[in-house]
Amino acid sequence: MEDQQLLRYARHILLDEFGVEAQERILASRILVVGAGGLGSPVVAYLAASGVGSIILVDDDQVELSNLQRQIAHTTDRLGWDKVESAKLHIEQLNPEVKVTPVVQRLDEQSLMHWVQQVDLVLDCCDNFATRHAINRACVALRKPLVSGAAIRFSGQVSTYDLRQPDAPCYHCLFPEADDVEELRCATTGVLSPLLGMVGSVQAVEALKLLGGFGEPLVGRLLSVDAFNMNWHTVRFRKDPACPVCSAESAGHAKHA
Ligand SMILES: [Zn+2]
Repeated sequence: MEDQQLLRYARHILLDEFGVEAQERILASRILVVGAGGLGSPVVAYLAASGVGSIILVDDDQVELSNLQRQIAHTTDRLGWDKVESAKLHIEQLNPEVKVTPVVQRLDEQSLMHWVQQVDLVLDCCDNFATRHAINRACVALRKPLVSGAAIRFSGQVSTYDLRQPDAPCYHCLFPEADDVEELRCATTGVLSPLLGMVGSVQAVEALKLLGGFGEPLVGRLLSVDAFNMNWHTVRFRKDPACPVCSAESAGHAKHA
């Protein structure tokens, strides 16, 4: 690490559990962030400031006035820009050492596999179940750790799925995919602005722990926050032995359901 880097990351290096080693692992890491909106904004800001080496940022949306209440990577003078280009400028101003690859694309299964296999870790900051499940399938298939966050109205949740651990559950174990799930979206339902910062910051913490190799990840635990009454709680959950996504056993057998 160069002197300028030792200075920039000094407050991380001062942490005994972190040190130069974790910082160097983080500097050498590559991540995929899906979504450059309310969750993606704090996620990329904290991870870029923390020195993550390379960020592939995917979003097919453009910056609109109604985004600015919460999507803090974007600014009033960048209305109409592709969100990934706006966020790239934000990241480069925070930390020019970070390599950013902006991708204006709505991901399908094939493109997800392409991007996921290039990274060490994936952050799900998207706003719909179909994409969340597609990201999960790619991460399970390629055994890449996934940090997934969600927030709506006054409620948020985060969990980490790391299928490099054989008994770890996947996103589908916790939230089975179903056609009849009613989807709430911030665009139509509303969401409290700093709640995105709370959830996105937890996602960034999880990512740094996994990339740096310290701490206890949020695997098999769902962390929820109710910002209205300000309660945080954690629920444990297990791998579903019949999960069609992550259970090898279920692949060749009839569905149990
Ligand atoms: Zn599963």
